Amino acid sequence: MSAAGPRLSAPSPSVATERLAELIRESDSVVALTGAGISVPSGIPDFRSPGTGLWAKVDPMAVAHIDVFRTDPARFWHFYSERFSTLEDRHPNGAHRALAELERRGHLDAVITQNIDGLHRQAGTRELVEVHGSIEHSSCPACRRRFPGVEVRQRLRADAHGVPRCDCSAAIRPDVILFGELLPVAALRRAQELAIGADLLLCVGSSLEVYPVAQLPLITRQAGGQVAIVTHGLTPVDEHAVVRLTGDVKDELEAVLAAV
Ligand code: ZN
Repeated sequence: MSAAGPRLSAPSPSVATERLAELIRESDSVVALTGAGISVPSGIPDFRSPGTGLWAKVDPMAVAHIDVFRTDPARFWHFYSERFSTLEDRHPNGAHRALAELERRGHLDAVITQNIDGLHRQAGTRELVEVHGSIEHSSCPACRRRFPGVEVRQRLRADAHGVPRCDCSAAIRPDVILFGELLPVAALRRAQELAIGADLLLCVGSSLEVYPVAQLPLITRQAGGQVAIVTHGLTPVDEHAVVRLTGDVKDELEAVLAAV
């Protein structure tokens, strides 16, 4: 847990932790909204943070774009295989597990995530909305066959150009939303429904700056629900938050779970 320094200007972290635990207990519907920050303790860098991730070395628009996949799959996969390898052998951390445990105990209805790493599912979260898709599967755009990640890597290594190919010979693509693509309508609609129905939207590890998740806290507020934020740094919706915890996401959520 974060050190509770004596501050006059803000409640101590333990008071905020207790307050959040109380809100979770008292709310009929709690929904979590998570971003890259929840997977940082699992060793997955926040690729949007300047200078820390893959995006620091390449222009994502120039490689992780649907047009690049279509016209130059070798270039696309040269980049994306590196992305795959940064997500290999990663495990859920205490923050993912705390949310899964809250759901198991009946305190959490669902997790909406921007992350593609699949760690919420690995942690045991059952009701999961992945608005940017998941890297756990890939699929063939031609015949729609789906492939688990391990098979994609085998096919990638077996191809002279480093492009995983389906038996029908088309290049396989990861089931994530690429630049130049629209977000999946069904997942977006489900996320919005959950935000409207939430008495408490618990935002974890997200800077809440990227569409569509940026609008979800405002949707919850407009529908009469409350918003809590557990993340480093500032977000554009801090002024709407009833509780803010700014320490390590794993420590904060484990402390909240212990207090619920
Ligand atoms: Zn195919």
